[in-house]
Amino acid sequence: MFWRRAFVLGRPSLPSLPQWGQLGRRGLNIDAKSSKSTKMAATEASYLIVGAGVFGAATALELKRANPLANVTLVDRTEFPNPSAASHDLNKIVRADYGDVMYMKLALEAQELWRNDPIYKPYYHQVGMLYAESKGMGKSFIANYKKLGIDYASEFMSTEEARTRFSGAFRAANWEGVTQTYFNPRSGWGDGAGALRSVIQAGVDIGVTYKAAPVSKLALDEADKCVGVTLEDGGELRADQVVLCVGAWTPFFLAESAPNSQQLQTGDRMVAAGAIQCCATFPEDQAYKFKDVPVVFNAMAHTEGESIPPTAENRLKFNYEASFTNKSYHESSRQTLSIPPRRTSRSTWSQDVPQGLKDEIKTVVKHTYGDWIEGLEIESYRMCWDAITPNQDFIISPHPHCQGLYVATGGSFHSWKFVPVLGRYVVQMLQGTLSDELAARWAWDRPADGGALPEFLPHRDLKDIPGYVG
Ligand SMILES: Cc1cc2nc3c(=O)[nH]c(=O)nc-3n(C[C@H](O)[C@H](O)[C@H](O)COP(=O)(O)OP(=O)(O)OC[C@H]3O[C@@H](n4cnc5c(N)ncnc54)[C@H](O)[C@@H]3O)c2cc1C
Repeated sequence: MFWRRAFVLGRPSLPSLPQWGQLGRRGLNIDAKSSKSTKMAATEASYLIVGAGVFGAATALELKRANPLANVTLVDRTEFPNPSAASHDLNKIVRADYGDVMYMKLALEAQELWRNDPIYKPYYHQVGMLYAESKGMGKSFIANYKKLGIDYASEFMSTEEARTRFSGAFRAANWEGVTQTYFNPRSGWGDGAGALRSVIQAGVDIGVTYKAAPVSKLALDEADKCVGVTLEDGGELRADQVVLCVGAWTPFFLAESAPNSQQLQTGDRMVAAGAIQCCATFPEDQAYKFKDVPVVFNAMAHTEGESIPPTAENRLKFNYEASFTNKSYHESSRQTLSIPPRRTSRSTWSQDVPQGLKDEIKTVVKHTYGDWIEGLEIESYRMCWDAITPNQDFIISPHPHCQGLYVATGGSFHSWKFVPVLGRYVVQMLQGTLSDELAARWAWDRPADGGALPEFLPHRDLKDIPGYVG
């Protein structure tokens, strides 16, 4: 089944051939103007951006850059950066290897800024990324680089060679069934919390107002136009235009905002899904073993997980791919919704994770390094929550049933790397100048074809995982 998945946990796999064809037919033209900074007519318009993950933070910065006279307010539950945000992490994979040419182009654009823009550059580590797989993913990436006329630096190597490269870091990896390893030295990882803080701070430095306050719902006028939000403390924030960037909380937030309006709900456009990660440490005398280690993705069914090389503090991160929902009945809107758990320890680093998930991520750790690293120990776990769309395309769109409301979300386990460019596209959407291709792919209403199939959405619920305690 993973053969057909397009991109999960920040990395792609190969879509099935029919889907591949569809992706190809969609056309690959992103407007030339897309890659340039976006200017707006200077007005004192007011914008309220709810949610300060990568979508919200990037939008705030680019809105203020595009229109310095505008009043831009970014609001999130806590001071920034909020550790419950999917965007706030130990680290995230940054790569342009995509089985979808459009996202490849976008990621190449973003990588330029990761390498050169002072907002992002200090947080980017270009250590390369290795895929151990048997699905032909590497070949599909190369085909796309060729299609784009890009001079790629990737290489294939045998498993034997890959075990001896990188200072032998993967000598004990479980690569059973791997037929191909693909290495791209131009990929890497970004410091999750550091980069998020940096982009929010860059916005604040040019005049974005940051407000720490939990938002309870949208404020709608008599004509159901969105005029701002109400806060949990009873206060209100008003704005001409509201951009909803609340990630995995989107279905819940809209249900709370307008429980009786079916048109406002997310429906099957996205679902909140979690995935398990862990952070492991090792004694200083083992550090030399990681000297040349890249990001690694083991795509085999026995593992399906990634590892990101150690931070300066000797902290290694691992992801396991199989996601899950957290469903419950939402009384006032009379629908079953997946909602990130209320307890903060269930969206931040902690031990508050069912044993079943701990066991799953331990397998990824074991299959990545075997017994090669002495004293490698898991320090903490995290359930990271994101909004996944059926085909893993983002939603960057006006809400068609609520004037004044715009939505930028649906990160679908792969949006973080795009933070240097995301805001421009949201601004273009607000201006109505997004290219036809992007507007269609990121629309609120669209066919769910393309990257992924419904079976790749989460197929289990948190409550069904062994060891779950409510
Ligand atoms: C396990 C995992 C691994 C991933 N790995 C990668 C990777 O390696 N590379 C990559 O490119 N992508 C990766 N992703 C995807 C990426 O992290 C997400 O797509 C992205 O961070 C989503 O950003 P966002 O702004 O939509 O949401 P978030 O970052 O979750 O931000 C939403 C914000 O809204 C706020 N909010 C919600 N409700 C309210 C409210 N009522 N009032 C105020 N504020 C509110 C939240 O507090 C939060 O700060 C991964 C995702 C997961 C889950």
